[in-house]
Amino acid sequence: MDYFDEYYPLIDKIADDLFTHPELGYKEFHTSQTVENEIKRICPKANIKHFSGTGLRVDFNNGSSKTIAIIAELDSLYQPSHFAANSETGAAQACGHFTQVTAALSIINNLVKTDAISNFGTNLAFIFTPAEEYVDLSFRKKAKAAGKISYFGGKQEAIKLGIFDDIDYCISTHAIGEDFAKRTIEVDCNLAGFNFEYFTFKGKASHAGFAPEAGINAENMASLFTTALAYLRQSVKNPNQIRYNPVMTSQNEMSINVIPDHLQMGTDLRYFDSNYAIELQNKFINAATGCAQALGGQVKIEQQVGYLPLIQSKSMNQRVKEVFKRTPEIEDIIDNRGYVMAAGDIGDISFLMPTIQIGYGGFNGTIHGKDFKLVDKDFVLRIFPRFVYNSILDISTHLDEIKTYRKTRDQYLTTLSKMEN
Ligand SMILES: [Zn+2]
Ligand SMILES: [Zn+2]
Repeated sequence: MDYFDEYYPLIDKIADDLFTHPELGYKEFHTSQTVENEIKRICPKANIKHFSGTGLRVDFNNGSSKTIAIIAELDSLYQPSHFAANSETGAAQACGHFTQVTAALSIINNLVKTDAISNFGTNLAFIFTPAEEYVDLSFRKKAKAAGKISYFGGKQEAIKLGIFDDIDYCISTHAIGEDFAKRTIEVDCNLAGFNFEYFTFKGKASHAGFAPEAGINAENMASLFTTALAYLRQSVKNPNQIRYNPVMTSQNEMSINVIPDHLQMGTDLRYFDSNYAIELQNKFINAATGCAQALGGQVKIEQQVGYLPLIQSKSMNQRVKEVFKRTPEIEDIIDNRGYVMAAGDIGDISFLMPTIQIGYGGFNGTIHGKDFKLVDKDFVLRIFPRFVYNSILDISTHLDEIKTYRKTRDQYLTTLSKMEN
């Protein structure tokens, strides 16, 4: 029996508590307080730093020149139909983030109880980040306008605040939304980046029967633009790694005998190559401007930066695979999926430094759906945290095998600024 086994009954209670108290991004007050209380109980001298209201960071140093960050996401999703959703806020743990938190706490508990920090080849920083899910945007828009936050993603905000300035490698974990017959983990699965873009076409209203010559039809511009975007797909490079989804985001509320004078469309743009995304965004702008001009109208364009793509560190994942080989309790590994078009703000961290996200099963239902739940507690709350602990230890003692890069906070902020207006 080790400290992961010993901690299981307590972390099981904490997992239940977090699951039944889901909170939306930047409002994870209960979750944050629970984490802080538990860290202080495990390690009364821990020096806990706060950021972005609910974010927490606690460091364990051994005098190394490098630091590995372990990330856990505090927030939950907006999914009011989930069986354990908060009836007032619609928040629900339909993405499993609470089990990232319990894994991080189990790792901290083992680290402190075994007094093992000197065994690691790096310092360790545990960073509990707010607001991963890109939801509740009206609240975040207001917070941004009021100067309380600069970014909708909690890790983006943390980067801006300098929380990751002294970090060299990053390890994160995430639930996988599939049912597995065997206990399964996943490595090396990249995530797409995304941006949101809005196009508001403006024309001139007139009586469609009596004076059509006086009108400029905004709906026709939107229709022409939809066609232009469809034609643009032919020239898209690596089309399997690009997605866009043009939809109408406003309705024509005028009478049907009036030529509509405004209509808003939007699309997300999902990608793996940030420079190419900027190129495509410019093509969209040209097409929208051209379509508006073609019919005598105008278009207002708003670009909202989403998250950058997660490009995982293959050399770090190689070490995780080695640890998997000596962990018989975990029966299966997926290492060949390559990428999925889902996204997360862990991508923004991978822009800066070598980063991995280890996936884990143990759930059933639909991820982000109404029935997503933890089913294999023994795996997720006891076996998997021990595996992640061993992976961190292994990576920290094989740094010579890890391919390293480091971009600065300024380079990061400049890249984001090119994607928004
Ligand atoms: Zn999610
Ligand atoms: Zn998630």
